[in-house]
Amino acid sequence: MKTAKLINRKVEIINVEKPEFEGSGAIIKVLGCGLCGSDLVKIKHATIETEKNIVLGHEVVGVIQEINPSNKTFKTGDIVALGHHYPCMECEYCKNGSTSMCRTFKKSNIFPSGFSEYIKVDDNHLKYTVYKMSDELENDEKAFLEPLSCCIRAIRRAGFKYNENNKKFSALVIGLGSIGLLMLKGLRAFNVQAFGFDINAERMKIALDDGFSFDENKKYDVVFLTAGNSKAIDSALKSVIDGGKIIVFSSVDDDIKGFSNNEIYYRELSIISSYSPHPADLKLSSELLNRKKVVVSNLSTHYSLDNLAHAVDDSFNNRIFKAYIEI
Ligand SMILES: [Zn+2]
Ligand SMILES: [Zn+2]
Repeated sequence: MKTAKLINRKVEIINVEKPEFEGSGAIIKVLGCGLCGSDLVKIKHATIETEKNIVLGHEVVGVIQEINPSNKTFKTGDIVALGHHYPCMECEYCKNGSTSMCRTFKKSNIFPSGFSEYIKVDDNHLKYTVYKMSDELENDEKAFLEPLSCCIRAIRRAGFKYNENNKKFSALVIGLGSIGLLMLKGLRAFNVQAFGFDINAERMKIALDDGFSFDENKKYDVVFLTAGNSKAIDSALKSVIDGGKIIVFSSVDDDIKGFSNNEIYYRELSIISSYSPHPADLKLSSELLNRKKVVVSNLSTHYSLDNLAHAVDDSFNNRIFKAYIEI
């Protein structure tokens, strides 16, 4: 079967053995996989030494091809989307709710990678990270399960609870790539007043057309940083209310210039980060997508697996909003 691999720092499609079903977990025939900003970061920073361990693609939608018939939740033929890492739910990190710091979480993954014709998942994936997706969604919409769940975790870490009256709170998302727009849509589903800003006019327009706005003179209760650019830190500090929260949600290339100690101290700001989803966030993400509380139609540009390198190139050069690889 075909799978994507980084070879000499280039994305290549190679042939490997199809993973075999060994009685536990499941074999999933991949229908498609979204290209995540974190895949681009991995490609950009890969070295010849590290590239063999890089797993490209994790925003998977697929159909269960082989599974133990005793599984009570899933059966052959189910269309599912999934998260690639699962927590143990028993260690101190998991007990504290920091499931993405769990060492099992960090080690676990799908095999061989989301950009493959077939993947193998473990029983714990089936238990914690795999969800059935509605037939009423297009496959590229189903593939938003994992990225939306990451946003939901960030929204929850900002202190918002789903189905609570959050209307009096305002949030600004700085950086309106696909994940920034998804954050806005998630905030709207949580009933938070959601505003967005991007220096790129095209991206700004997508958010405006979706009903979001930006008010330069307003101070926001929470600012989400999804821009992947350290300059956005200054904008966050300018836009947040005294006593407010800044949610760090992306890596930056130039990590030298941090937050100002005194500004954080005298303004009593909370700087909180959010990394990857908790199983509960994947669950809520599946519900919001399946019930169309968050609509992600027409956001993705489709490519074939053979054209993955092209999708990567278009994404690096901001020619497209979000790439979805049909497999
Ligand atoms: Zn992702
Ligand atoms: Zn754990």
